Amino acid sequence: MEENRIKKVRQFCVSFMMLCLAFLGVFLVQKKTEPREANAEISAFAPDTSGDKEELTQTEEMGEPEGGHALSEVQTSAWSHVFGTNIPEIVKQQGDYCVLIRKGTGALDSVSEEMIYRKLTVGVQGSVSEDDVLRISRNALYVGQPKVPVVEIPEELKNVPLVREPKTAEEDSLLSLELSETDGTTKVVLEFNSVYEVELTEDEEFIYLNLIRPHEKYENIVVLDAGHGGRDPGTSGGGVSEASVNLAVVRYVKELLDQQEDWKIYYTRLTNILPDLSTRVEFANALHADMLISVHCNYNPAKSMNGVEVLYSGVQGQGDLLNSKALANICSDYVSEATGLKERKLVERSSNLHIIKYCTMPMALIEFGFMSNASDLALITSEAGQRQCAEAIYRSIESAYARMDEN
Ligand SMILES: [Zn+2]
Repeated sequence: MEENRIKKVRQFCVSFMMLCLAFLGVFLVQKKTEPREANAEISAFAPDTSGDKEELTQTEEMGEPEGGHALSEVQTSAWSHVFGTNIPEIVKQQGDYCVLIRKGTGALDSVSEEMIYRKLTVGVQGSVSEDDVLRISRNALYVGQPKVPVVEIPEELKNVPLVREPKTAEEDSLLSLELSETDGTTKVVLEFNSVYEVELTEDEEFIYLNLIRPHEKYENIVVLDAGHGGRDPGTSGGGVSEASVNLAVVRYVKELLDQQEDWKIYYTRLTNILPDLSTRVEFANALHADMLISVHCNYNPAKSMNGVEVLYSGVQGQGDLLNSKALANICSDYVSEATGLKERKLVERSSNLHIIKYCTMPMALIEFGFMSNASDLALITSEAGQRQCAEAIYRSIESAYARMDEN
């Protein structure tokens, strides 16, 4: 008797559990295949560990399933609801972070990038809607307008540059999405949550933007900053603005740097635009650059004051082989030697110069002579002088890397 009762209870328990599991199964399947809501992340799953450990290897061409990752069966079925049937292939071919724009009948028309603002504009012929812009972030899929949580920033932190990078591997790579259609072409403006190198490919159905973090592609990264620009000319002398001298010097450095492949250089500006100081520092910090060199010119009411002056942070990288002060010292030596300008003392400015205060890497701000001094001005506004300064900056980068390699 007793045995029979235990048997019955056991049977009941097993049946009940089976029933629960069945309900759970039905619930999950329903949840994953529910019609997606626009403006919403449609599925975020726990990281698929089989894909997690894969080294992100990038391919120039599509069709090599080296990057990307595998999806679980549940994901495949849910995502196929959005993509159609070829989702497993898409995910395998792309890296862990990518944006897909469904083309419909239209073709890719244009691409333009404003990397400093983490923006990419893609022109597509025909109509594209928000729901045609899909983002894969590792194992999560986002569709439509990104939902960026509004975070209250305390007053004292409002000026502090952020390193905007995905907080989790599944975070939406977009901060904002804007679409506008004119003359049969849709402009899709994507604002990313960090700085990415974007590799673009397309097939009949989609435009694929593979998002790669710069350090996954380049080992050595330098940021060059031409001070001021746009409506902020900086100081001036002899009818020449400081902003234009700074830009000319940086462009000459670029000519030299374009001929080498050891270092990847990012520029805060190569035209007459004015990224604000926070944007510049945020850019360098998000790139995890090895160094930041900013080019400026000096001014002083005492017209006799002259020479090269390099500003640095006394708190950054103390004790490191290459820190802000060491980099400033290198730049000061090379620039004064190449230009013949007097070498002034280095100046510590970490407390009150935004770009120096918030920069997380070795940085040097070169004041390339005084525009208020006649003799300095003649040199710094001449092409020969600007090219000498550019050459010196190139040598400084070389020397700074040699210093780091001593480790
Ligand atoms: Zn300046």
